Amino acid sequence: MCDFEEFIFTCGHSTFRLKSYCHFARNHPQHACRRVKKLRNCWDQGRPCDACAAEAEAAAAAEAERWRVMQMEMAMMAGMEQLDEKPPGLA
Ligand SMILES: [Zn+2]
Ligand SMILES: [Zn+2]
Repeated sequence: MCDFEEFIFTCGHSTFRLKSYCHFARNHPQHACRRVKKLRNCWDQGRPCDACAAEAEAAAAAEAERWRVMQMEMAMMAGMEQLDEKPPGLA
């Protein structure tokens, strides 16, 4: 059997990585192994997997863009209000 280790991510996904081939797979030209795969280690990654991290990053970027547009609109509205006011000293 071949040795595998599992990486567990906080998003619930996990990936397996081959740690070492067994004697059977080592001698096979394509390193194929038809035997039981043995899980040697489980690593808690303490972070989301790459796909989920990229997704979260894209969502954060979209959120930042929304926030930027909102700030701009608010600044524009504040600017228009100032234009309606009379200049100081001429009341
Ligand atoms: Zn094997
Ligand atoms: Zn994930």
